[in-house]
Amino acid sequence: MIKATHKRLERINEMIAPHSEVLVLGCETCTGICLVGGEKEVARMAANLRLLNRKNGGKKTFTEGVVRRQCEMEFLDGAASLINDADAVVSLACGVGMQAIAEHFPNMPVYPGNNTAFLGLSPELGLFSERCVACGDCLIDRTGGLCPIARCAKHLFNGPCGGSVAGKCEVSPDVPCIWQMIVDRMMRLGQLSKLEDIKGIRNWKTNDAVGPRAYIREDLRSTPPKLDSVVMKPVAPKGGAA
Ligand code: SF4
Ligand code: SF4
Repeated sequence: MIKATHKRLERINEMIAPHSEVLVLGCETCTGICLVGGEKEVARMAANLRLLNRKNGGKKTFTEGVVRRQCEMEFLDGAASLINDADAVVSLACGVGMQAIAEHFPNMPVYPGNNTAFLGLSPELGLFSERCVACGDCLIDRTGGLCPIARCAKHLFNGPCGGSVAGKCEVSPDVPCIWQMIVDRMMRLGQLSKLEDIKGIRNWKTNDAVGPRAYIREDLRSTPPKLDSVVMKPVAPKGGAA
């Protein structure tokens, strides 16, 4: 899921300076689950902004709301009156949810209350860790289900750089070398020979180097879409990851 952290309170306070009725709007899905966008976090953020505003002699009002998923327009429609009653929104969703508000409510200023961090998981309570950079062409069938793009500091595809010491990455010595983990796992799975298949130069057209990306599911559409992004095409395997 998408992981995020709160922005500094003082920074949010600066953003909302011109506004008097501010809605703090959370999202129950990704940022709710990583505890920066749910009902409790919305209440805490609104209370902290209220206190800071009063301390500075301000008279702003802060309302609170949470939608199931801020990145989907139908859930935003359900909060339309709450949004339209405010003169600005502080979003505690990810960057996608924030932009959904900007697109769906063209006259409503929206400000980020969170920094969107990465696609990751929470292996332990209170630890959030990156696992995927959404490259658009998953290759982890060849690497034992572990991702060298998101988790190797050098994004190496064909084995370790040779600099790791005691299973740790030479770039970040506190972090396990993902290539050591890949080799260990493939040995356990009896698939080590797969690593002898050299992966050629990767076609990066599916990653964000091309600009904003889109894909179309023709089976879900009756009319052609209005495009605002580069449509991703399946990548032809040319020795590279496909
Ligand atoms: S190969 Fe790409 S899609 Fe697959 S886990 Fe890594 S970054 Fe994500
Ligand atoms: S030590 Fe391992 S994880 Fe770090 S850059 Fe080298 S191969 Fe990648």
